[in-house]
Order: sequence, then structure tokens, then C-alpha cells
Amino acid sequence: MRAVKSRYNISTELKLIQIFKELGIKGWRRGYNLYGNPDFTFPKKRIAVFADGCFWHGHSCRNIAPKDNAYYWKEKIRKNKLRDGIVSKTLRQKGWRVVRIWECEIKNESLRKLKLLYLV
Ligand SMILES: [Zn+2]
Repeated sequence: MRAVKSRYNISTELKLIQIFKELGIKGWRRGYNLYGNPDFTFPKKRIAVFADGCFWHGHSCRNIAPKDNAYYWKEKIRKNKLRDGIVSKTLRQKGWRVVRIWECEIKNESLRKLKLLYLV
């Protein structure tokens, strides 16, 4: 399970780096030591960016739940969503701006631009 998740993360992160370059967005860091381990951090602007997988984080665009072990998945996703909420809230309380970008938005050019352009 972890292997699946980390493989996924690597590809979306690389995709985001490509998008940052295209849009001329600078000042981001990866692996910055911050609560919740954001995928990208803009330390000077105090912005934390998370690239969330639609399935893992329960996005409404993905209504198809696996039929096998339905309860397990439902619980897993529910816990992820709960943790996401706690992480976002905690970071905001510490004065960070939190940007969560869905996997489907990364794939959809117009949507991701709307969300990312205000980081510039
Ligand atoms: Zn989605």
C-alpha cells in the first residue's frame, strides 16, 4: 500500500514541478520540515501545497469505491480526510496558507492554473 502511494506521489510531484516551471512559479521547496509534510512549501510566502490523490483523499470526482474490502477502503479514506482537515487547520493556525490541489486538477490544465496562479 505504501509503495503504491509513494509511486503515485512521485509522479504528481514531478508533474507539479513541471507546471511551476511553466508558470514561472519560484521559491518552492520539497521535503521542507513542516507539520503535515506538504508536498511543496514556499517558506518565504508561508504557503504549503499538497497534491492529493483523488482516491486516497476521497475527492467527489471519484465515486467508484472498490467492492472488495469496501469497509476497509471507506475507513482508510475517511481517516485520510480527517487527517487532511487537521493538518490544514493546524497550519492555518500557525499562519500558513494551505493549498490543496487534487490529482484531477493537476491533470486539468484550466483548473490547475486557476489555483496555482495566485501563488506567483
Ligand atoms: Zn478529483
